[in-house]
Amino acid sequence: MRSAFRVSQPRPDQALGVPVSSSSMPVNDTTGIPSGSETDLARTRTACGSCYTWGQTTMDSGDDKSFLHEHREAVFRCVKCGACQAVCPTYQATGDEAQVARGRLSLLEAVLDGRLGITRGLDERISKCLGCMACERICPSGLQIHDIFLAARSGMTAARDSHRLTRQAVRSAARGSASPSSVIRTAGIVGEAVYNILPGSRLAPWWRDGRKRSLPPLGRKTFTDIAGDETSLSGARRRVALFPGCATNLVYPGTGLAAVKLLAEAGIEVAHPRTLQCCGLPFLSLGDRESARAAAEENLSLLTGLGADTIVTVCSSCALMLKALLPRLLGEEREDAAALAASVRDIHELLAGGELGAAGPQPAARVTWHDPCHMRHGLGMSAAPRDILAGLGGIEYIETGAGCCGGAGAFSFLHYDLALKIGRPRAEEIAAAGVDFVATGCPGCRTHLTDVLRRAGSDARVVHTAELVAGLVEP
Ligand code: SF4
Ligand code: SF4
Repeated sequence: MRSAFRVSQPRPDQALGVPVSSSSMPVNDTTGIPSGSETDLARTRTACGSCYTWGQTTMDSGDDKSFLHEHREAVFRCVKCGACQAVCPTYQATGDEAQVARGRLSLLEAVLDGRLGITRGLDERISKCLGCMACERICPSGLQIHDIFLAARSGMTAARDSHRLTRQAVRSAARGSASPSSVIRTAGIVGEAVYNILPGSRLAPWWRDGRKRSLPPLGRKTFTDIAGDETSLSGARRRVALFPGCATNLVYPGTGLAAVKLLAEAGIEVAHPRTLQCCGLPFLSLGDRESARAAAEENLSLLTGLGADTIVTVCSSCALMLKALLPRLLGEEREDAAALAASVRDIHELLAGGELGAAGPQPAARVTWHDPCHMRHGLGMSAAPRDILAGLGGIEYIETGAGCCGGAGAFSFLHYDLALKIGRPRAEEIAAAGVDFVATGCPGCRTHLTDVLRRAGSDARVVHTAELVAGLVEP
């Protein structure tokens, strides 16, 4: 059983002169410490560098911290410079030191030191990290912050069984994405009926918040239902595999069809077997490493048996997962995983490199680009998509900045209000530009950005770049 621990030293405002939000904070029923303490711990460590004294405990919390051992050295390597504050969307939206990489790492230090247990407050602060990797890109200590927080989430999930219903829903949706559209349509009708009966729940906030948001319709034909397992081409000069990802397959089949059209026009044969699994990143983000590993193994085995020289992705999160996270998840000594990772290319790379070209008329329209965080910060690609769009005939390219939309996959379903707050400035700058289309490279951004744009009074349509280049977008 988890043992409670109590703060035995002066509070930060007494010990260090650090202001805290309230002098009469409620006590956390799980830990026995004031409920504001995670924020205070994050602030205090920051305020005083290594000489802080507040937060010494009389006993270890007793929680299993083994999930952090692999990252122990890295967690303590944060020099508290605060550079991450300037780029962190959750910090900018909340102003809360416990919701920036520095503060979150301070909390994990406290866990490793035995000053903080695996509390609900800690779980919430880690869960409210978007995983956008903006901090990792600028961190002068070179910390792999995304990996550390993913490990923390898996430890939290094991210790607290957090987001159980959400994890089950994501597992079902990911498995269901390989089902025929008749099954998906039926599931959609049943889901809608249950949705209208069940009240909102803390266990499944996306169920409650779904009523407020504009979501694309589900239950039409999936990409693999329309395209089958393969697009054969006589006299093809190359053969690649298209990894559509769950959201493209289920919600935006037009993106997959556009990719196939662009590849076929370039004389490239495409395999896209319906048995491909979710890339696994949604599982990892929810702390479910076991499901992520199982999906990675299945995809690895399927993709390596297709005789394809390249794995093409149309979702930057899938690309990040297959290129960078899959080998780390399965073990960096695995040669098959490393070979697969080396063969993955996002379709924007092929378009920018001239391997694929325009395959249809583009609308005469004002278009801007929205950077998916995993493309900009994870894959380090931001100029290429802009160049592709600016080079398309008929299109007037308008630059509108590079902020986060707040989507981040399951994040916007779990923390909808925060996701709206993060996305509002981005939506307002796009709305002010008066564009007709927003091109992007992530179906999650597409969904959430459409929602925040409607709230900002813009009717700009969010599409995938491949759809524009393939001439499949109607004016
Ligand atoms: S930028 Fe890196 S080293 Fe600096 S405070 Fe943030 S996480 Fe720590
Ligand atoms: S990954 Fe993004 S949201 Fe999370 S701490 Fe870093 S910058 Fe902030």
